[in-house]
Amino acid sequence: MDMKEANIAEMTKRNILANAGYRCEVCGVALGYGKEEQHPQFYFIIPIVQGGEKKETNVAVLCPSDGEGFKEIERDLLLRKAMYREMAEPDT
Ligand SMILES: [Zn+2]
Repeated sequence: MDMKEANIAEMTKRNILANAGYRCEVCGVALGYGKEEQHPQFYFIIPIVQGGEKKETNVAVLCPSDGEGFKEIERDLLLRKAMYREMAEPDT
């Protein structure tokens, strides 16, 4: 599976990162844009080509190493998180 990093707006990325508590959603490592920090990578949980929506709840923030090895099992975990987020959204 060719997992391309999600092409999303900078503002949206900041929101997603804040919602994730500035941590990788798979391993929990701290993420940030500082020189010494692991830079966040953004991925669509359900790829757009597979019918995924271009919205925040369908985006996961991962550390670079988890981003590279984004596997089915991790996606299941993220899907569940995305579902909770969806329920917590007041306007959907
Ligand atoms: Zn990670």
